[in-house]
Amino acid sequence: MSTPEHVVIIGSGPAGHTAAVYTARANLKPVMFEGQAAGGIPGGQLMTTTEVENYPGFPQGIQGPELMQAFRKQSLRFGTRIITDDVVKADVKNRPFTVSSAEQTLKAHALIIATGAAAKRLNLPGEQRLWTKGMSACAVCDGALPVFRNKALVVIGGGDSACEESGFLTKFASKVYLIHRRDQLRASKIMQERVFKNPKIEVIWNAVVSDVLGNDVVSGVRLKDVKTNQERDLACGGVFYAIGFTPNTALFAGQLAMDEHGYLLTTPGSTETSIPGVFACGDVQDKRYRQAVTAAGSGCMAALDCERWLIDQGVES
Ligand code: NAP
Repeated sequence: MSTPEHVVIIGSGPAGHTAAVYTARANLKPVMFEGQAAGGIPGGQLMTTTEVENYPGFPQGIQGPELMQAFRKQSLRFGTRIITDDVVKADVKNRPFTVSSAEQTLKAHALIIATGAAAKRLNLPGEQRLWTKGMSACAVCDGALPVFRNKALVVIGGGDSACEESGFLTKFASKVYLIHRRDQLRASKIMQERVFKNPKIEVIWNAVVSDVLGNDVVSGVRLKDVKTNQERDLACGGVFYAIGFTPNTALFAGQLAMDEHGYLLTTPGSTETSIPGVFACGDVQDKRYRQAVTAAGSGCMAALDCERWLIDQGVES
């Protein structure tokens, strides 16, 4: 087996790339697995976002993919080695740590986990049959596809994502039904107001989707009123989930401490996980803020924590 890397970074969103820039500039020669399919596409959730208006430094806003392209260029500029592949196995119980993709296995003295979080799904009875045939968990990625044009579309959820995606879909849809399980949206006030003002969006309150209907493509959903338990079918040509996220931590099940939702636990005020030498940053350990800028900030923290830890271990850069 070859000499261990100083640090391997898993994940290529704002957290992973910030960790890469900082560790590269500390001469730690980071290797990044940027992922391929596991997290959707390399670059994390901003790759499936349009306009980013709240990342400081861009007064006119910037497109999510453009911002991630800039992050990636900056990582490369300082010598990060980027491997475009999914990590399929990680052993953090033995040192040096081992990280493997289908193609290669690397050993590393330190590991920075920045694998983010993935959109949740409901696993409805018809979902396996109709997934990608009118069903999606990302309106911004898929909403403009011909299959959704001029159709009535359903968005499930009541948070900022559901509101944002409903508004986005009105560009293509004849109508958008926003289906929420309670009588109040979780979304911020400004997002709620946009929904209520949009004549193409109808909110259906106190309802859950119990199935998605259609043979080859989505033709409707079965709705259940949670107050009366009455069911009815609603015709639509597409269904979008916007019901939150699951942290991408399956690789570390049974190895690293996690909370009840599977988010990695880190020591407050640092990025240390339950295993010394393994650091976590970004959405994989943050269910509270979940912003690009906080992810980037925690990526910087992980790099600095990692650098100090390697010095303490006597690993020379
Ligand atoms: P979220 O805030 O966790 O909201 C998830 C929504 O889905 C909630 O309304 C929840 O209902 C509903 N839900 C969850 N599980 C469900 C189930 N099994 N069946 C039916 N409904 C279910 O997630 P998010 O909207 O994706 O937002 C995540 C974070 O990103 C938030 O911090 C948000 O502010 C941020 N964000 C910001 C923007 C923006 O500012 N432009 C855009 C998108 C997201 P309950 O309300 O009943 O729990």
